[in-house]
Amino acid sequence: MASDCDVAVIGAGAAGVAASVVAARSGCRVTLIDVGDRPGGQYYRGADLSPSPRAGVDYPALAGDLDRLVAAHAVDYRPRTTAYALERAGQRLLVRTRGDDRHRQDVDIIGAGTVILATGAFDRPLPFPGWTLPGVMTGGGAQSLVKGQHVLPGRRIVVAGTGPFLLAVAATLLEHGAEVAAVVEANDPVVGSVRQLRGLTSGLGKAGDLGRFIAALARHRVPYLRRHRIVEALGEDRVTGVRIARVDADWHPIPGTERVLECDAVSVGFGFVAQLDLAAQLGARMIRGADGGLAVEVDDDQATSVPGLLAAGETTGIGGVEAARVEGLVAGATAAVLSDHASALTPSALERVRRQVARWRRFAAGLHATFPVRDGWVDSVREDSLVCRCEEVPVSRVREAVALGARDARTVKLLSRAGMGWCQGRMCAAAVDGLCGFDDIASLQGASYRPVSVPVPLGALAAEPVEG
Ligand SMILES: Cc1cc2nc3c(=O)[nH]c(=O)nc-3n(C[C@H](O)[C@H](O)[C@H](O)COP(=O)(O)OP(=O)(O)OC[C@H]3O[C@@H](n4cnc5c(N)ncnc54)[C@H](O)[C@@H]3O)c2cc1C
Repeated sequence: MASDCDVAVIGAGAAGVAASVVAARSGCRVTLIDVGDRPGGQYYRGADLSPSPRAGVDYPALAGDLDRLVAAHAVDYRPRTTAYALERAGQRLLVRTRGDDRHRQDVDIIGAGTVILATGAFDRPLPFPGWTLPGVMTGGGAQSLVKGQHVLPGRRIVVAGTGPFLLAVAATLLEHGAEVAAVVEANDPVVGSVRQLRGLTSGLGKAGDLGRFIAALARHRVPYLRRHRIVEALGEDRVTGVRIARVDADWHPIPGTERVLECDAVSVGFGFVAQLDLAAQLGARMIRGADGGLAVEVDDDQATSVPGLLAAGETTGIGGVEAARVEGLVAGATAAVLSDHASALTPSALERVRRQVARWRRFAAGLHATFPVRDGWVDSVREDSLVCRCEEVPVSRVREAVALGARDARTVKLLSRAGMGWCQGRMCAAAVDGLCGFDDIASLQGASYRPVSVPVPLGALAAEPVEG
C-alpha cells in the first residue's frame, strides 16, 4: 500500500533517531525506515541503554523518546525495511522500500515532503596479498560478529590498518576473551596528534573511550606497532599468519624489517566509506570529505543540493557517532520548518547544537589528518592481488583499463568488471579510486549511481502499490 508522511527518515542510527525525534516532537508525521531489527545503527546496535537523566540531549535520552513517540504513533517506525530507491514526483519525494531478505515481497512507496538520509557508512578495506583468505575480515565485520552474534572471529587475532577504530575493535575482542596478537597501525599517531592538537582537543569528550581502549591493551600486554603495515596474509585454506613490515611516512615497506605474526584471524580497517546510493539516485551534489572519501554536500541546515532532501551523519562525511547525533538534531529541526511546523528546538538550543556540529566536525578533521590513508599502499600492492573480490578482478586489470585510456570510474568499471558483482562496488570502490587516482568527483559519483540499490524480486516490483 502506498503511504504518506511529512518526513521520511532513512536510517535509524544516531543521526536518524535524533532527526526523527526532533521532527516528530515538532508535530511532523514521521516515517523511520531501517534495515535493522532495532534502532541504534552501527554504534548502538539496538543495545539496551540505561535511561538518561539529561532530557533529549544524548543518545539514550533520544532512544527513550523514540520509543515513546512510536508507541504514541507519532513515528511510524519500520524495522527490517530497506529503502532501495528514491525519486521525485512533483513537489514530493518517493521512497521505495522492500522487506528484509525473508520478506522481499513486502514493498511500499512512501510519499514525503522531506526525506532525511541518515544511511551511515560501511568499512573501507584496501587490498593486499592474501586479504581474501577466510579469517581476514574488516574491523566493522569483526565488531558486528562479536557485538551482534557474540561470536569471536578467531582465538588469536591481528588488528591492522589505521585509525582509532583499531583500538575499539581490539578492546571489543579482548573484552570477549580473544587474544590480540598486535595492533598494527600504519600511521604514527604520536607525531600526528601533536600536529593536529587544535582539532583533536575539540573531541575531549571522547578521551574516556580512548583511555578505556588503551588501558585494555596495556592490561593484556598487546603490542601497538606504529608505522607498521601488513604486507601479506599467509595461509592456504585460511589465514595462519601475517607478514608485517615497518613503513616509511608514505606507507612504503622498509626493506629488511619484515616479520611474521601467527594468528588465526585478521581484522583490517582503513576507515569508512559513506553510503551514497540513494543520494546519487537524486543527483545530490557530492564533495570529498575530510578523509578524502566521497560524501553528500550539505549546508548548515543539513540541506543537500536537492530540494526537500536533507542528510545527516556519516552520509555527509565520516565524522563519528557524536557528529551524527547532533547533525541529526539539526536535520530534524530543518525538516520541521520545511513541513511548516515550529521546530521543537528553540533558536538558542539549535544554535548550541550547531556549535556542537562544528566542534565534532573539527575533531573528525583532526582525526583524519592524524590517520590518513597514504599512497604507499598503491605503489606496493601486488598486480595479482584481487581488488574486486565479487568479480575476482586483480589490480593488474584495473591498471590495464587505465592504460587503455579509461579516464573515469565508470569506464574502469565497464572495462575491468571491478564493482559489477554482488556488493556493487561497496567493498572495492575506494580501492579502485585510489589505484586510478581520478580526481573528478562527478565521474566517481556517476560510478556509484544505481537505479535500484539492493536486489528486488521482479514479482515484488510488479506488486508495487500505485502511489497517490
Ligand atoms: C560496521 C561498522 C562498525 C562500527 N563500529 C564502531 C565502533 O565500534 N565504535 C565507534 O566509535 N564507531 C563505530 N563505527 C562508526 C559509527 O558507527 C558511526 O560513527 C555512527 O554509527 C554514525 O551514525 P549514523 O547514524 O550516521 O550511521 P549508522 O549508525 O551507520 O546508521 C545508519 C543506519 O542506516 C541503515 N541503512 C543504511 N542504508 C539503508 C537503506 N537503504 N534503507 C534502510 N536503512 C538503511 C543502517 O542499517 C543503519 O542502521 C562503526 C561503523 C561501521 C560502518
